[in-house]
Amino acid sequence: MTEFGLDDLPIRDDLRGSSPYGAPQLDVQVALNTNENPYPPSDRLAEALAREVSAVATGLNRYPDRDATRLRAALAGYLGHGLDADQVWAANGSNEVLQQILQVFGGPGRTAMGFEPSYSMHPIITRATNTAWLSEPRAADFSIGVAAATRAIAEHQPDIVFLTSPNNPTGTALPLEVIESVLRVAPGVVVVDEAYAEFRREGTPSALTLLADHPRLIVSRTMSKAFAMAGARLGYLAAHPAVVQALQLVRLPYHLSAVSQAVATTALDFADELLGAVKRLREERDSVVEWLRAHGFSVADSDANFVLFGEFADRSAAWRAMLDRGVLIREVGPPGWLRVTIGTPEEMTAFREALLQVAPGHL
Ligand code: PMP
Repeated sequence: MTEFGLDDLPIRDDLRGSSPYGAPQLDVQVALNTNENPYPPSDRLAEALAREVSAVATGLNRYPDRDATRLRAALAGYLGHGLDADQVWAANGSNEVLQQILQVFGGPGRTAMGFEPSYSMHPIITRATNTAWLSEPRAADFSIGVAAATRAIAEHQPDIVFLTSPNNPTGTALPLEVIESVLRVAPGVVVVDEAYAEFRREGTPSALTLLADHPRLIVSRTMSKAFAMAGARLGYLAAHPAVVQALQLVRLPYHLSAVSQAVATTALDFADELLGAVKRLREERDSVVEWLRAHGFSVADSDANFVLFGEFADRSAAWRAMLDRGVLIREVGPPGWLRVTIGTPEEMTAFREALLQVAPGHL
């Protein structure tokens, strides 16, 4: 058994030597590494979920609604902006939404472009669908310059452009002008990954406001973060109805289970309650940013539920020293920087205490 390994299998040549996505899943006291929402569903929501799942249970001998009609209508209602169910699509996490986009608009001989540092799954999903990945750098402050972006797009003519706003791992939100400029020059589809949209600070509009005028714009969202439903796996997008029709060419039949559909629809009924927790997380985020700056760290402005900070002489050692103190953060982004997800006030106190012990030896 021991002699046979991955290299001995006849896997696709282009997958040889690549690594799977792998944020560590460790059993620690304070887990601030995967941008989860620290607040579990309330008892009221948990009871409603149990009721709905039990109602669905008696029909599990049948396939679910293939088009997730009720859920998509509820998601359109949540998003607003005059959107209808035929402009919304849902799948198992926004990663699956992105994969379906790549399956339709990417593929052999096609390219996708992103502005890095950004979400590591964009290149992984791109390559997994046999699409070539083109990486352009963000500016030193992690913004995307209009001139540099439009030049790169004009030169490479990518079939898909990824814009992540707010960006993971930097937290940077994009002004609408940048997205509009990219839409003007991009020959294919433009995907604005808004997984962290609900955590934006005041005054940064969503790309949803551009949908009416841009049929090749796709805005992807998730219930994993603001809705505290990472375990339920529900991602979605808003786009022109033609884009939604195109995605149905590649989606597997009945891809979204009846249980997932019921859970997500029920959670949407609790949007007000869940978004109340988001407000608390935004306030906690702003105070962590302020505290880090007051203690001499470089900190990227954040419109998300995490903060990128540095700069460490040896960030791996600093990450490990934090873990030794029971605080798991994420080693990601440019060299010298680390990312912390915003947790409860108690978790952030533990983070601050650990960092004060760790930082002197590592900055
Ligand atoms: N987009 C971004 C920018 C993310 O950070 C994440 C999760 N870390 C996702 C998409 C995927 O989230 P999910 O599949 O849970 O919806």
